[in-house]
Amino acid sequence: MTIARELIRAKIEGQATNLDWLWQPSAAAEIRGYLNRLTATRSRAVDILGIEGMAAVAYFGALADTPLLFGKRQPVPDHWRKLGQRHSTITGTPRGAVTPGNALLNYLFGVLASEIAIALHARGLDASLGTLHADKDDRASLAYDLMEPARPLLERYILQWLREITFSKRDFHEDIQGFIRVMYPLNAHLAITAALWRGIADSLAQWIYQRLSGEKTALTVPDAHLFARDAARRALRWSVGRALQRPIPSTCLECGRVLAKRRRKFCSDQCARDWHGGKPFGAGLAAIAKARADRAAASERTATPVHRNPSRPSRSGRRCPAGRRTATRRCERGMRPRSGRG
Ligand SMILES: [Zn+2]
Repeated sequence: MTIARELIRAKIEGQATNLDWLWQPSAAAEIRGYLNRLTATRSRAVDILGIEGMAAVAYFGALADTPLLFGKRQPVPDHWRKLGQRHSTITGTPRGAVTPGNALLNYLFGVLASEIAIALHARGLDASLGTLHADKDDRASLAYDLMEPARPLLERYILQWLREITFSKRDFHEDIQGFIRVMYPLNAHLAITAALWRGIADSLAQWIYQRLSGEKTALTVPDAHLFARDAARRALRWSVGRALQRPIPSTCLECGRVLAKRRRKFCSDQCARDWHGGKPFGAGLAAIAKARADRAAASERTATPVHRNPSRPSRSGRRCPAGRRTATRRCERGMRPRSGRG
């Protein structure tokens, strides 16, 4: 049971860190109070889970008002615009989300659970034998146990992301019972974040492997700050070298559609106009339109075929330094040698 206690301790510490980050000191202090109770409690799964549950209620209570941004003219129900309570009003458990925010959390937790299960299998451990979660046929209980300390990291990732993104109504589907599903392509983007969780899953699996083989290894969850820095570095790589695809692209502030490469805030001029209250902010837009028209006209001019006689030596050819093959060849084709090369 010490394993279970360590897992829950790391989770509650992570939750308190997240609340510090969100400037909610009173809620963070309340959550830290549960750490003392965790130390004092008996080593039974029921007791440990009871404390975990109380901490979770306080934690998600503090997060419930976190806003989700939808485009101004997106006709979505009011309860979509906040993260809401973690426990679904239909199932009474976190499963079966009734708000988009919780659907996002559930989706990412699923991704994380499968990453941990893979990491466990890679070490020859049976992912279905848990210490906290009861064993069920269709559940990788050990993976869910190990997920506990990593959950706050993932929640931090989502909270940070919610500040930046505008959703579209089409990103979610509410079925007739009220359950929310994450739709394509958003779900595909979320699935790509698996690469971010792989390292965490691996270190957790390594820890449990060492603990089960009798070593006294302390549980260290990758620090959220480190993680954030890593994410920033990755984001840089995504934008600069395009070495990796950025998992979740930016979206239009007005309609939530994924932005094309060159677009920064809005997918179209119409959306920009709508966002600014439908008022034509004339001069700027007119200037942009004129610049576009000019550029289009200019490119048309250059695209018209110019007849060149390949046998005629070019005038610039004379200026080519002798003996430089590439330059000479360029001259033969009637092109100027590149400046700076000779
Ligand atoms: Zn748009």
